[in-house]
Amino acid sequence: MGSLNSAFKKTGLELPRRVVVMGLGRFGGGAGVSRWLAQQGCTVVVTDMEPAEKLAASIAHLRDVPVQFQLGGHDAAILDSCDLLVVNPAVDKAKSAFVQQAIARGIPLTTEINLFVQRCPAITIGVTGSVGKSTTTAMIAAAVGAAWQNGAGGAHCGRVYAGGNIGRSLLADLGSIGPQDCAVLELSSFMLEDTPFAGWSPHIAVVTNLKSNHLDRHGSMEQYATAKKNILRFQTPGDIAIINQDDAAVWSWRSECRGRVMGYSTVAAAALPLQVPGGHNQSNAQAALAVLAALGIRPGSDAWRGGCEALHTFKGLPHRLELVHTQVLPGERRVRWFNDSKATTPEASITALRAFAPRSFICIVGGYDKYLDMSDFVRELAERAGGVLGIGATGQSLVDQVVASGAVAPQRAKYVQTLAAAVELAGQWVGDAGGANELDVVLLSPASASWGQFENYEVRGAQFAALAKSQTTGTAK
Ligand code: ADP
Repeated sequence: MGSLNSAFKKTGLELPRRVVVMGLGRFGGGAGVSRWLAQQGCTVVVTDMEPAEKLAASIAHLRDVPVQFQLGGHDAAILDSCDLLVVNPAVDKAKSAFVQQAIARGIPLTTEINLFVQRCPAITIGVTGSVGKSTTTAMIAAAVGAAWQNGAGGAHCGRVYAGGNIGRSLLADLGSIGPQDCAVLELSSFMLEDTPFAGWSPHIAVVTNLKSNHLDRHGSMEQYATAKKNILRFQTPGDIAIINQDDAAVWSWRSECRGRVMGYSTVAAAALPLQVPGGHNQSNAQAALAVLAALGIRPGSDAWRGGCEALHTFKGLPHRLELVHTQVLPGERRVRWFNDSKATTPEASITALRAFAPRSFICIVGGYDKYLDMSDFVRELAERAGGVLGIGATGQSLVDQVVASGAVAPQRAKYVQTLAAAVELAGQWVGDAGGANELDVVLLSPASASWGQFENYEVRGAQFAALAKSQTTGTAK
């Protein structure tokens, strides 16, 4: 029987005729790679566990290319006419009977990101870490793009592409990407599990942090770290590793780097003027500045100033402490509404609570109950929030615990069940006339998944943004 290693090793640059793509997904890589393969002349069959109804958007994206679908499960019969299996990073290969069958039949394996990096002529910048990957990837792309636009007079000036786990396949751009360009790739641990099979690491590797995550798939913290470290593994002495000095776990990796090591830190650095709040975003922006330096852009140059300006105007990614509305109340008092719907765990919401001045904000919390330990979150919520509104399954208990702490007045901690009711009451609280009402932020940071009340966190966040904007005493952002 073949091994995973030998199955991946069988793939070369020449594409075979018949390809099966396993895992279409709701957005991103699956649809992108299927489309690209069909355009390269391959016969493509896409298989997914989910039925067609759940994959409607991805299927629509493929409407104009000749791909066949086998949905609602993986039928091993399609392996009878398969010369290459493209596996989605979300698939746990060791546990998938379908993948194991393919390996046993000697079918070569690859992934969307491997297909791309094997063919990408540009400078590659890879970003990994447990949290902050998407934001840092987007900040780097914005900063490098602006720096290069301002970098006339001999500086390198190519185009900047952002892709990978951030939700976009860059395979479609291969035709226009050249050696003078750069590709900023968000790399999840699942993607990095397989990049060694392409013998690849990026020219510039950025590592944000390491926290316990995805242990169900990786087995142990050690294996999870090993997957992440693949971002450094095939670097050469001419390459650069940019590592967060403030995270002891990843900073210790510097001794294993083959390229030049650059650290970044917020500890001694002056705060950067950013629109996105929080110390974590300061850290992400420092990573982006380190990339500018790694690309040879000198502090103080026009290109550097262009990069800094792009970081300053960076508005944040959707649903991650995203400023969705600024409401102007009588007396020119401004209330900012932040959508942090992506915060589906207590750790993510603690990060958001720490981004604002104590007692300056109302926090809308609660959602689907994953039976997570909420005790640290409740303690910080009680210590920091000026008001708490509970929704969904976990909301009642969160509000009860905050009230029991005595730190927030009972009239400023209520369970209201729905998001609409929470926004309405938050609007009343911030608008309360008279006295020193210091509440100037309304934050949706649920510390819970959205299921039960919403299809996913994006739907929850979009509803919050729409409700926030309907707070009529305000002006558009
Ligand atoms: P990822 O792509 O790794 O999931 P994101 O950039 O999407 O990370 O951010 C998700 C959440 O993680 C943010 O809403 C914020 O709460 C938190 N976060 C972002 N950057 C950092 C960081 N550098 N350190 C700690 N937490 C962070």
